[in-house]
Amino acid sequence: MDATYAGDYRLTGSDALYFYKGDTDITMDYSVIDSIKESTDLDISIFYKDTRILTTLTDENGARMVGTGIAPQIFKSVYEDGQEAFYNNTVIFGTPYYTYYIPLVSSHGNVQGIIAAARPSANVNKTIRSYILILAGIALVLTSLMIFIVISITKPMTRSIESIFAFVKEASGGNETVTLDENVLRRQDELGEIGESVLMMQRSMRSMMESDPLTGLFNRRSAHRKIAPIVAKARNSSESFCICIGDIDFFKHVNDTYGHDAGDEVLIKVADIIREHMKNLGFVSRWGGEEFLMVFDRTSLLMAESSLWGLLDKIRAAEIRYDNYVIKVTMSYGVSEWDKKESVDDLIRSADDKLYYAKNSGRNRVVSKIETGENDGNSEENDL
Ligand code: GH3
Ligand code: MG
Ligand code: MG
Repeated sequence: MDATYAGDYRLTGSDALYFYKGDTDITMDYSVIDSIKESTDLDISIFYKDTRILTTLTDENGARMVGTGIAPQIFKSVYEDGQEAFYNNTVIFGTPYYTYYIPLVSSHGNVQGIIAAARPSANVNKTIRSYILILAGIALVLTSLMIFIVISITKPMTRSIESIFAFVKEASGGNETVTLDENVLRRQDELGEIGESVLMMQRSMRSMMESDPLTGLFNRRSAHRKIAPIVAKARNSSESFCICIGDIDFFKHVNDTYGHDAGDEVLIKVADIIREHMKNLGFVSRWGGEEFLMVFDRTSLLMAESSLWGLLDKIRAAEIRYDNYVIKVTMSYGVSEWDKKESVDDLIRSADDKLYYAKNSGRNRVVSKIETGENDGNSEENDL
């Protein structure tokens, strides 16, 4: 109004009242407030003191609702105290409104009236509700997304933890063949590392359980397990296999002469020679103190015997150094070929009998057959 008409508001006349802004009679001039209503959808009322003079509000017949008053407490705070005020509970002609009141101040600084901008509460609430609906929708989508992300991250994690737990439980319960879920090992995080660690633990436990700590050979326990598949294979084929038990001759003498540590050194070197010799032929295990059990896979008795003579040559030739000593040893071997009918225990017993025979018939030899009659196995010949 100030931009359109210069001057202050004034009300003149006695019978009929005329409303002026400066020199302009604006009693019936609704152009400014109607254009505000059109562009903002706000109902505008201009009060002179406490009387509504100009308004966009109309009754059901379209007549402007002028000449009405303003609530006393609004009048007091806006007109008398000169404060702007907002009310979310004004009722204008029976309709609830949200209304903002601004004092109209003259060029002399006096409050002359009030301008009110109002919007029906129902319209405002409808707008708020539509925003709330949009916000609730966004919140719902975001929450669902979060839940989805959390589940998709934690589910494989929980599964990996469960796999590791099950693996450790089985392994510690003595299940040596238990395997760890591949998905755990594929992980690039701490759980993947834990998986690697428990696998390494299983490997070292297995090698500790299966190997002899002094020589690093398989121990007696794992020898039994390694024989089983060889027997199963031989049972289903025409090929056979042989078992040999070898024993270092006069080993007690080595211990007694050079000391127990020297004896250990001899055991380590002899084990190395046998392991190397048995490569691609089968396997060797430490069967007892200075006794070794060798299994010749897919080998006849003749071939095993000839291979053992070759091994004995290597043992005889070895010069085992300990401190300033050079120790030389020989070995005796008893070897038997598997006969499809007999058990592994019987086969080992047969090889053991032949070893005993070898010991009694002079040591430092390979026995594949016990010669009955010719030799009573009591020769005391030895090569040391
Ligand atoms: P034979 O030719 O009849 O086999 O005579 P031997 O002296 O080799 O046999 P005996 O059974 O009398 O002695 C074997 C010795 O081996 C006795 C034992 O103290 C020793 N021994 C067993 N295990 C070990 C070991 O790990 N280290 C050492 N240094 N000695 C061992
Ligand atoms: Mg011995
Ligand atoms: Mg012995």
